[in-house]
Amino acid sequence: MKRAITALVGLGVWVSFGADTMASTEGSATSGNGVQQRLMDGNTRYAGACLSHPNQTEQRRTELAQGQHPFAAIVSCADSRVPPEILFDQGLGDLFVIRLAGNIMDDAALASLEYAVDHLGVRYIMILGHERCGAVEATIQGGETPGHIGSLIKAIQPAVDNAKNQPGDPLDNAVRANVAMVVQQVKSSPPILEELAKKGDLTVLGARYDLDDGRVTILP
Ligand SMILES: [Zn+2]
Repeated sequence: MKRAITALVGLGVWVSFGADTMASTEGSATSGNGVQQRLMDGNTRYAGACLSHPNQTEQRRTELAQGQHPFAAIVSCADSRVPPEILFDQGLGDLFVIRLAGNIMDDAALASLEYAVDHLGVRYIMILGHERCGAVEATIQGGETPGHIGSLIKAIQPAVDNAKNQPGDPLDNAVRANVAMVVQQVKSSPPILEELAKKGDLTVLGARYDLDDGRVTILP
């Protein structure tokens, strides 16, 4: 991290700081509050139209050419309005991103997460749903589905069923239920993800992106 300035600060403790954040771009800080803070700080910059566009230089590309150490994995919708790198104001090599409509999990998505965790050392996974998700809305509406769209509906349907009798907005309730369902799917996927999550060595949580104000909120 060449932009970092390393300074010796009292009592012989070395502290690195730089234009990016305290979280290491080399991937050592891949779990816990530091990762979440880095993401939320980026989202605050994005929502406030104060982007810093970190790690998007030619130098960064060169640094990464022989290997990647992303600090978080994001599972988000394929929706063109929800690109994690932009809405968290991150750059090359920062986020391991999996995007399928409705931020659903299938075997390939789970395998991708397993790769991120097992080979790249990622210890923080965010399942990111979003306001007015078309895939969730289509599931609520039901009816005929052309082509392969039925596979999306089938994946989301249990969440729609879970949210059915809740008060409030049916679509937003289903979006939140879908995120919660996928969080559980990831956490309980044996052997790699489940084992680490049970030991407390892997953070898996849900969040919701607001299309109107650009803010990401961590879901309970
Ligand atoms: Zn969507």
